[in-house]
Amino acid sequence: MNVSDPRLSCAITFDFDAMSVWIGSMRSNNPSMISRGEFGAVATPRILEMLRRRRMRASWCVPGHTALAYPDLVRRIRDEGHELVHHGWVHENPASFDEAGERRVLDRGLEALDRTAGVRPRGYRSPAWDLSPRSVDLLLEYGFEYDSSCMGSDFFPYYLRSGDRWSLDEPYVFGETRPLVELPVTWGLDDFPPFEFILGSNTGLSAPSAVEETWKGDFDYAHASCAGGLFTLTLHPQVIGRGHRMLLLERLIDHFASREGVVFETLGDYARRWRERNPVESWKQANPSFAGPR
Ligand SMILES: [Zn+2]
Repeated sequence: MNVSDPRLSCAITFDFDAMSVWIGSMRSNNPSMISRGEFGAVATPRILEMLRRRRMRASWCVPGHTALAYPDLVRRIRDEGHELVHHGWVHENPASFDEAGERRVLDRGLEALDRTAGVRPRGYRSPAWDLSPRSVDLLLEYGFEYDSSCMGSDFFPYYLRSGDRWSLDEPYVFGETRPLVELPVTWGLDDFPPFEFILGSNTGLSAPSAVEETWKGDFDYAHASCAGGLFTLTLHPQVIGRGHRMLLLERLIDHFASREGVVFETLGDYARRWRERNPVESWKQANPSFAGPR
């Protein structure tokens, strides 16, 4: 690490799913449930205003379905200097398609971001963090530089593999390390599980004080013990945009910013810098456990 490097980078990421998560992931035909997603378009301007006031840039993961529903908001996100990240077409699970179907979903997401904002994203985050066994190779073929959907590390990036094989009977077989940077995520640093209420499956509606304690705990650990790492928070405008949660977010950002050597960056900027410092072959030599036993 250079002396000029930040001690810890902080990526505040917003998955602007709008209606797509209820239509694609939840398969809802219920106008009331789908309207929860519309609130994301109400919350997005207040989040953008907060980021503008703090002069912070963030990464916005936007499904093609959302870009076509709210093109003015997506252009505003772009115009205010934020990064746009591919987030599927209508928040579908890539593993539920064959290869042609998975390509179609990637194409439709790219076309929508191009048509509405003229942007070709460098990064990909899969809807609900699901991937198919072929996703890594497809993302490389499409020219993506990084993914942010996996959980194989916490505050340090790594390179993904393709060709892993698993079964109930045989030992795990590690595939080949591929030049796709992973910026890892975790459900523990996502606002959806603690806050979003879904009848019968997710109790949600946590007190902000409880979430504040766990998120600050992870941040403080990363700041103390993971120099040069990346702390990624995954938020949804339709979830974090409620009043008491906006106040929580402001308190958290104040806490992060008060610590020495913390910078706020987009996922894309961090990934590019990390890749330059960690070419895939030398990283592989230095991190054998990610490539499996030799
Ligand atoms: Zn999403």
